[in-house]
Amino acid sequence: MMNAPTTHPLPTFDITAEGLAKEAENLVTYLEHSADELVASVTRSELTFDTVVRPLAAIDNELRARVQYIALFHGVSPCAEVRQASSAAENKVVHAHLGLFQRDDLFALVDAVHANPQAHASVDEEDLKLLNRFHQLFIENGMKLTGASRERFTWITRRLVDLRVEFMQNLGADPGSVCFSEGELAGLTVEGFELVEEGSVGAAAATNRYRVPLTKPVVTRILSQCRVPQTRKEVFLRNQNRYEPNVEIFREIVLLRDEASRLLGFESFAHRKLQQQLVKSPDRVEKWLKELHAALEPLAQRELEQLRVVSGTDAIHLWDLDFYHNRILQEQYHVDHERVAEDFPARGTIERMLGIFEELFSVQFEKVEASGKHTWHADVDAFAVWEADRSAFIGYLYVDIYPRPGKYNHAANFNIYPAYLNSEGKRTPVVTALVCNVSRGEPALLRHQEVITIFHELGHGMHDLLGRSKYALFHGHRTVADFIEAPSQLLENWCWVPDCLRRLSHHYSYTTTNTSSPPPASTPQTHPEQIPTALLTNLLAAKPLHQALLTLRQLAFSTFDMAVHHPPSHAALQSLDISATYNRLLEETTGLQGPAPPSPEASPYENWTWGHGHVTTAHYVWSQEANYYSYLFTRMLAAEIWASRFQTNPMSSEAGLAYRRGILEYGGSREEWGLITGWLGREPNLGAYLRELGVEMGEEELR
Ligand SMILES: [Zn+2]
Repeated sequence: MMNAPTTHPLPTFDITAEGLAKEAENLVTYLEHSADELVASVTRSELTFDTVVRPLAAIDNELRARVQYIALFHGVSPCAEVRQASSAAENKVVHAHLGLFQRDDLFALVDAVHANPQAHASVDEEDLKLLNRFHQLFIENGMKLTGASRERFTWITRRLVDLRVEFMQNLGADPGSVCFSEGELAGLTVEGFELVEEGSVGAAAATNRYRVPLTKPVVTRILSQCRVPQTRKEVFLRNQNRYEPNVEIFREIVLLRDEASRLLGFESFAHRKLQQQLVKSPDRVEKWLKELHAALEPLAQRELEQLRVVSGTDAIHLWDLDFYHNRILQEQYHVDHERVAEDFPARGTIERMLGIFEELFSVQFEKVEASGKHTWHADVDAFAVWEADRSAFIGYLYVDIYPRPGKYNHAANFNIYPAYLNSEGKRTPVVTALVCNVSRGEPALLRHQEVITIFHELGHGMHDLLGRSKYALFHGHRTVADFIEAPSQLLENWCWVPDCLRRLSHHYSYTTTNTSSPPPASTPQTHPEQIPTALLTNLLAAKPLHQALLTLRQLAFSTFDMAVHHPPSHAALQSLDISATYNRLLEETTGLQGPAPPSPEASPYENWTWGHGHVTTAHYVWSQEANYYSYLFTRMLAAEIWASRFQTNPMSSEAGLAYRRGILEYGGSREEWGLITGWLGREPNLGAYLRELGVEMGEEELR
């Protein structure tokens, strides 16, 4: 079949470390020169959206079009030198970009347009959103402050950057290890034992003890597999007491955030952050969290009761949940994840995922040859993306799934080039990449959780590919922080629909490979081609297991996040025992117990001195500060969208196209709350989400 010519050539990735440094330098120079030019080109009498904001948007577009490309190499380049150069170059550009919104001369122009309704009378909704966002960026940088407040604010901003760096460096330190005997590690699979080192000298060797590194995978394995409660407890507590120096840093960070927010005129850091998000105020977040908590409480109690029966003890501790969850999965639900994985060979499954997107969103993926300078590694696949009727070229999707040294080690969508309308009014093509790490076998097989993760990440990629905002700032996934996950969480639902799983599956023994290596244990052709119903039944039956308790654990983290970012007063935050608050919320919210009080007469306060888990993760310091609730909040939105149009017919291309046009295409260019209420025809509520979590509700309650 003859294809219409690709109107945009494949991008190139053959840039060197020097090339990246040069590109960053050019970009910084461009930013400074064009800002100078903009300031020099307008006079006070002609400050309008067209003379000020549009040119500033063009600068911003140009920056966003180039900085993501620079940043990509840090995560994917096989060359360490290029990875380092990418980080350094990105840093340089990000600082220069920040500097743009710290210029008094530029702020004076934007502020004048913002303050004068006549100056932006004829603009559309996206333009107005852009103006407000730009204005807000200046305000956030303290541009309205003067004198001592300005100085203090500037000092705090710098101090916060330093503290954050120090905090993150501490998190990167060796987590240490602990020794256990074989008996103390009972229940760990052989795979688990491979991760421990045998005690090497003297008595240690004689008692056959193993040194267990407290890395995240090992901690997770012990908490979910070790049969000895005392071992789980010790590992849990050690894990909660790591990175001691971060305790003081964390305290200083939240105090400075609070002070800086008050300097800007906000009641708290959460007020400052949330005014830009879907849920406009911390009070609404707290109300929503309480509502969710109350609705989950009865189910959580039943789950705890089940755990008491299975464990044979009355007290279920924080270090017991994962273990009994895992045990019940295996003993009562018989989910054989290894066998399920045989039905999902990585490459083919991903191509079948794209097939689902083609049908749902009316697009076409065409595998293209991307070698040499058009890729960053030979393992990477590339697809040209078109409208289904090939009326327009959309962009490129790169798929990079195999691990290799130095590569980004989680799963994510890396947007390389955003789309926007350029100065000629033409839409630029999108380039985006799925970057993940599937266990490399021959062929590589995906566990069900990996199928979900990849579908989720491709969802961010689809958001980018389908984005049609005017400005790069709002392109694709660039929505408010408490909406960004909703489209991808929505897509996870497809990975729980039997027909969709059958469609995604294809037993690896039917896959022709070019290698001569023998296939894994089972004999080819003895399995059905698609995933058997019995496997699906077990998989689906286990889905609601302990969802209330697991969700309440997330809810505890969200409540803590609000407690430190939305205190009643600055003085209250100063006197807050942050660690005790964290521990108390974790225990009280989940109903899972911490360690016993130090003495029978101990005050409740003394019960909560057992750890400082809040400083062992980056969440509250870098990425989810005053936004942790959004993990749960977007699940509610995703459940609503799923229930509204897709649940009864997941492969409805009519619903898919409506969703594409009504939500995805806008990216962040419209008020997201309006898009959602428009889609649902009402305000979202907890009903669909609670049903998904297994809460039984009468029809009355759902209204
Ligand atoms: Zn995501």
